[in-house]
Amino acid sequence: MDDVDTPAPAAPRPSVHPRQGLPEAVRIYEVGPRDGLQAEKVIIDTAVKLELVQRLERAGMTTIELTSFVPPRWVPQLADAENLMAAHAPREGVRYPVLVPNLKGLARAKAAGAREIAVVVSSTEAFAKANFANTIDGALDNAVAVVEAARADGLPVRGYVSMAFGDPWEGAVAPEMPARMAAALSAAGCTSISLGDTIGVGTAGQVADVVGAAVAAGTSLEALALHFHDTYGQALSNVLAGLEAGVTEFDASAGGLGGCPYARSATGNLATEDLVWLLEGLGYDTGIDLDALVATSTWMAGQLGRAPVSRVVRALAQDVR
Ligand code: MG
Repeated sequence: MDDVDTPAPAAPRPSVHPRQGLPEAVRIYEVGPRDGLQAEKVIIDTAVKLELVQRLERAGMTTIELTSFVPPRWVPQLADAENLMAAHAPREGVRYPVLVPNLKGLARAKAAGAREIAVVVSSTEAFAKANFANTIDGALDNAVAVVEAARADGLPVRGYVSMAFGDPWEGAVAPEMPARMAAALSAAGCTSISLGDTIGVGTAGQVADVVGAAVAAGTSLEALALHFHDTYGQALSNVLAGLEAGVTEFDASAGGLGGCPYARSATGNLATEDLVWLLEGLGYDTGIDLDALVATSTWMAGQLGRAPVSRVVRALAQDVR
């Protein structure tokens, strides 16, 4: 009878200790359905992707990058972009940007009903060649053409600057390179610029240098976002360094979608749950239902046939029904 009165253990939560000098509010930009899934080898059914997006909405995400209008032969995982858009009912108050690689992709995205887009450029010649079969400036010109066309249609555009912290072929990347790309994208009309540590080699002190160079080159601090990968376990310390530098938007992927933990080239995105834990601990109200998010990532990992990579998901999964 006594056990009737024994309270169940409380679900673990971060202890909250706000820190002086950090931005007043921050935003989480969820990239799981696009950046996450595009790196996953198992092809996921459109219905499962739709359920993922809906579960992310219910967990409280207010920005969800939905898909990419790249040619299907480039990224077979996202070949269902039109079908996903047609099946998905946008939720009031939630933004659903989609990635487009060129003007043809922009036309597809607009026909599918996209209200907001994203483009990608490179900080290095090696990545521009490998990913775009182009030079840095050729890829930038291509992206600028897309930005200008989208802005002429009134669409907000986010610009991703890849390899902003290091490059697998070239090694170190001078902060002036991503800064130059960010400035060009800002001048073209991008409303948001995400500096990407595409391979996860960035370090905490470097974050201030890269952000500082971007601001010095003409991108407003308010427009900057940071996109970290947890390859070397540095993603959260880099987020904290970004907060200290005044950045207010951070990209993350539910459950750390986007990197196979068994692959040599594992370059998983920062997990949204891990980011939420850090931010809530600093006193930010993220608006995210952590239990619902953990349940979503656990379910999604099952769809992919493996365990979630997020430390917070692993720690909480047993408490979440
Ligand atoms: Mg990524």
